[in-house]
Amino acid sequence: MDFAQLAPALKSKLIKLGLTRPFDLVLHLPLRYEDETQLVPINESGFGGGPVLVEGEVHSCDVQFRPRRQLVARVVDDTGVLVVRLIHFYPSQAKQLEVGKRVRLYGEVRHGFWGDEMVHPKIRSVSDRTRLNEALTPVYSTTAGLAQHQITKLVHQALSGCSLTDTLPPDITEPLGLPDFRSSVLLLHNPPTDIPNIQLTERTHPAWRRLKFDELLAQQLSLRMARAERREKDAPVINPPGDLARRLLASLPFGLTGAQQKVLTEINHDLAQPHPMQRLLQGDVGAGKTIVAALAACQAMECGYQVALLAPTEILAEQHYRKLATWLEPLGIRVAWLAGSLKAKAKREALEDAALGTAPLIVGTHALFQNQVTFANLGLAIVDEQHRFGVAQRLALREKGQSPHQLMMSATPIPRTLAMSFYADLDVSVIDELPPGRTPIVTKLISDARRDEVIARIAAKVLEGRQVYWVCPLIEESEALQLQTAVDTHAQLTLELNGIAVGLVHGRMKPDEKAAVMAQFLTNDIQVLVATTVIEVGVDVPNASLMVIEHAERMGLAQLHQLRGRVGRGAHASLCVLLYTGPLSDNAKSRLRVIYENTDGFEIARQDMDLRGPGELAGVRQSGVPMLRFADLERDADLLDAAREAAEILLAGQRPTAMAHLDRWLPGREALLKV
Ligand code: ADP
Ligand code: MG
Repeated sequence: MDFAQLAPALKSKLIKLGLTRPFDLVLHLPLRYEDETQLVPINESGFGGGPVLVEGEVHSCDVQFRPRRQLVARVVDDTGVLVVRLIHFYPSQAKQLEVGKRVRLYGEVRHGFWGDEMVHPKIRSVSDRTRLNEALTPVYSTTAGLAQHQITKLVHQALSGCSLTDTLPPDITEPLGLPDFRSSVLLLHNPPTDIPNIQLTERTHPAWRRLKFDELLAQQLSLRMARAERREKDAPVINPPGDLARRLLASLPFGLTGAQQKVLTEINHDLAQPHPMQRLLQGDVGAGKTIVAALAACQAMECGYQVALLAPTEILAEQHYRKLATWLEPLGIRVAWLAGSLKAKAKREALEDAALGTAPLIVGTHALFQNQVTFANLGLAIVDEQHRFGVAQRLALREKGQSPHQLMMSATPIPRTLAMSFYADLDVSVIDELPPGRTPIVTKLISDARRDEVIARIAAKVLEGRQVYWVCPLIEESEALQLQTAVDTHAQLTLELNGIAVGLVHGRMKPDEKAAVMAQFLTNDIQVLVATTVIEVGVDVPNASLMVIEHAERMGLAQLHQLRGRVGRGAHASLCVLLYTGPLSDNAKSRLRVIYENTDGFEIARQDMDLRGPGELAGVRQSGVPMLRFADLERDADLLDAAREAAEILLAGQRPTAMAHLDRWLPGREALLKV
């Protein structure tokens, strides 16, 4: 197969899937397998929870019109009845489900109101002689317009067209009990009949382990190479007496927690080295990362270097700017503010401050990355909510200084050991303790039917002098619809909360409009802030003690946790109301239970992973780690250890092998991974 010769339409679909050369198809391993090798009796079909194959005769089939047009059939075997529901259907499907026909159905059974049912199962007409499949059927991830059988065919072409020779010598793979590359990929794409299915579906078969190992090894190799390269580079040695930091600390109404002190020591140690720091500072929402960043900035500024602080949104950047200005300007430090929305004159001044070094600290959004920005002598770059930034943007920033020290901050919790072993090129510090005096946030799950009570509670809170967030639902299908809901809610609350100032902030507003609303909220000129999820990160208004999140069941757990962290920042008892619209699926119930029962972001992340199942490392993916497709950091911890060791061995004595392996797994991606 030659990619250059593919039809442009097909090629662009493959590119959408991240497949840009034939070998990528070899590595496009099945997303899952369908087990059509055994029939399950209907009365047992709902037991396991996963998809099953059942067979029976159609006893009834009707088009129903309520609540909307749909096809509903009843399929019967010796043990029971199963309802089949098709919400969209073709005449051909209605034909398959005619009364008296025999069908095989593959799908997941739900316990519906009308009994057990399958919604949109795979349907196959069968006769008594139709044999069952002998092996599992691979299912590939694909994109609109590229059918399963087409991508399967392309994969098979690639398997026969590409060289599948091993990149690794047996003395690495054999002691680990891992099979060779060729037989592993062939097995995964063409499951044989003689191995336990569960080893394939659960990805525990040695062939799966081989591919996971290869993937982890490539990751470790590239990160280690990046780290070694970093050690070659020079960075300013920042090791001042620390007077500026001491003065800042003395001016604060609070002292650092033990955890803050510990991470600051780690950061200061790095800054004193002649090579660029590359440190990730993790800490749950509200853990107090900003002051740590400010103190690190003081070190650099005391030595005469500039510091840049970047935040992913203008709201957040401006909040940082205000906070840092309040902290540092009394100490005689000029803080410059650089954002996309600035007027031409203000922007020119800020750019000059950066270029001439007249402002030692520059705070801004991605506008900071633009080519026109130059720094006189950038010594430290601090990136807040680092997972929100693309790799390329971070790269652009690094090129602004020779190679400044970098401090990245993230509230996305990844278990520490995992982060340390995985980010082989980053050092990780964790603030694992919240500042004292916080009253824990109480979380309540309330049905949307009781919205009136919630609104009454808002009025009561405002009377007590507190402020309130109302977060509108995420509507993934349509940004316009999401905006509409926010506008409607704002109108409703304004009407019902007569005499209370209700503000609105959403993603479509101009940055300066947003900033104006946020500023009013900060000064309590607005008591109730209706917001789309733009307030997700970092906003800090300690007087806000009630948060209402609408359609909480639609949001991810990490997102809910982040949102909830906007309250509980002051001394007041805080409440987070999760409004949901029933009926809830079992999964939605379990997810809401996790957020209801837990306040520790790390624990929430762990349970989130459990609920999502293997392969979907949401937390890690969101945090900007180059994504792993096959390996699962928790389940495959042993392979990660092995990959780390192997990477060391290969880089020490077998560089050509290492390069060949990288070329297979990460062609052209090394540059990006170096960031
Ligand atoms: P995050 O880690 O989520 O960025 P912030 O840096 O915004 O958290 O801090 C949350 C709040 O806690 C801020 O109002 C900050 O001033 C306050 N804070 C930070 N450190 C301490 C401390 N050691 N004691 C008391 N309050 C603190
Ligand atoms: Mg923050």
